[in-house]
Amino acid sequence: MFALCAISLSPHCCLSDLTSCSPRLPKEGETIHGHNFFIGFGGKGANQCVQAARLGAKTAMVAKVGNDSFGDSYIQNFKDNGVYTGKHDLETASSSQIRACGCLHAGENAIVIVAGANMMLNKEELQDALAAITSAKVLVCQLEISPQMSLRALRMAQENKVTTIFNPAPAIPDLDPDFYRLSDVFCCNESEAELLTGSSVNNVEEARCASRELLRRGCGAVIITLGAQGCVVLEAPESTSKHVPTTPVSAVDTTGAGDSFIGALAYYVAHYPAMRLEEVARRAGQVAAVSVQSMGAQSSYPHKRDLGAELF
Ligand code: ATP
Repeated sequence: MFALCAISLSPHCCLSDLTSCSPRLPKEGETIHGHNFFIGFGGKGANQCVQAARLGAKTAMVAKVGNDSFGDSYIQNFKDNGVYTGKHDLETASSSQIRACGCLHAGENAIVIVAGANMMLNKEELQDALAAITSAKVLVCQLEISPQMSLRALRMAQENKVTTIFNPAPAIPDLDPDFYRLSDVFCCNESEAELLTGSSVNNVEEARCASRELLRRGCGAVIITLGAQGCVVLEAPESTSKHVPTTPVSAVDTTGAGDSFIGALAYYVAHYPAMRLEEVARRAGQVAAVSVQSMGAQSSYPHKRDLGAELF
């Protein structure tokens, strides 16, 4: 039996990005030459899992990938990052989830997503992952799967005293109230907080108000990330939130910063259970601040060896 420090439940979260760069987008029926093409690995859960693993957490994914070369490459990417992909954790289905992007120098793009295998993880397969979930210290869940399946996993974790981190992304307006009650840490960004509370969240003060509202709904703690402004942390039963600023850096590409933050959050919660959440968030912010200084999502995530000893 393997002992897990962090586990990411991400049935929808293995996404292969196929990006071609061209001077302009093709018109209907037209074929044009591009000047660059690359394949990247993305998806929220996978990103979060990879970031936690790069910091040194033992991680596993509960996910589905396609029974095709993209799925094979995705599993290899997990293995390369030290993420456990045992027989019962990654099952294959029809085809992988693919995001084909055409991007231009100007930053304009056109994107097609094919969901593929992602919608296929069912409750029997989730049950097969029970041992993995219950032996973890932390379960991280997102909202890229059927909400009922996410709720089921969060319940499995809570019943077995596994700490739950819930990232309501992409946000849906009428979130089942049980999500709040099942979240030890409810971590979202400004736009997700805005959609969930119905109030604008553009600055620290507004994030403080939103965190109070989300905490009132039953979570153990709330973190709202605010990009370059850091984040706001509110823990029950406190009523005063803490603003945790991040390091000022010159950002090159903020894609996937939120996932880097959540992966690091999972790592610190699993490895330093006695650490105050404010300090956990400060360290996670430092890790994410490193990620924004280079291009891409997973490709920009730091390893433990890239970070200062004061973060460990
Ligand atoms: P994305 O959707 O691009 O993954 P997000 O909106 O979910 O990102 P953000 O709130 O933008 O997440 O960023 C998460 C964390 O990353 C922030 O709380 C902060 O710690 C760090 N961060 C993001 N942008 C910057 C920046 N420009 N400078 C320093 N730190 C940053």
